[in-house]
Amino acid sequence: MSGTLFVVSAPAGCGKDTILNEVFKRCSSAGYAVSATTRAPREGEVDGVHYCFLSIDDFKKKIAENEVLEYTEYCGNFYGTLKKNVEDLLASGKDAVLKIEVEGAMNIKRQFPKAQLIFILPPSWEVLETRLRNRGTETEDKIRERIAQARTELSFAENYDYLVVNDDLEEAVCDMLAVFRAEKLRKANCGELLERFK
Ligand code: 5GP
Repeated sequence: MSGTLFVVSAPAGCGKDTILNEVFKRCSSAGYAVSATTRAPREGEVDGVHYCFLSIDDFKKKIAENEVLEYTEYCGNFYGTLKKNVEDLLASGKDAVLKIEVEGAMNIKRQFPKAQLIFILPPSWEVLETRLRNRGTETEDKIRERIAQARTELSFAENYDYLVVNDDLEEAVCDMLAVFRAEKLRKANCGELLERFK
């Protein structure tokens, strides 16, 4: 019995990383499938843990060698799902969690119709806009760009299987864990369980 492929997406400012970090602490049966990117590491990010940080040439080589399940260009950098990382997690019986943007999520669903797509929503449009505005010292143009980006991303939410609202962090974490748990209870994922009763 192999695990489930989960895809988690959310616009910036929805707390995706905070929720998932907590989920991984509490759920040992799910693993994060580390993506590759050509963007520079941010402070505190570790190669192989947060991302596999690659040069553009190495990224292109991986695509050419069919080692990337999907990839996209986002804000001027390439991001891609590494086939091996997903396969290793699933083969070990774990659920594989991809943390990717909406186009990538649609691409994964096309290739793996059984993948479960989870979209994290803000409590309201107004709250998200306030969160994006209060992030720091960005210019008004940059803020407007982020808001427009979030609007585009939110328009994809209707294509997802599950919606988790991040109003209260603890509740959002529990909701995400409930989705993982529910998938385990799906008859199709219960292997030979019913055979015992025949
Ligand atoms: P960041 O640079 O903030 O870590 O990520 C920017 C965006 O790229 C986020 O929405 C993130 O989920 C997305 N992303 C990260 N890895 C992948 C990937 O492998 N494929 C796709 N399509 N998007 C990704």
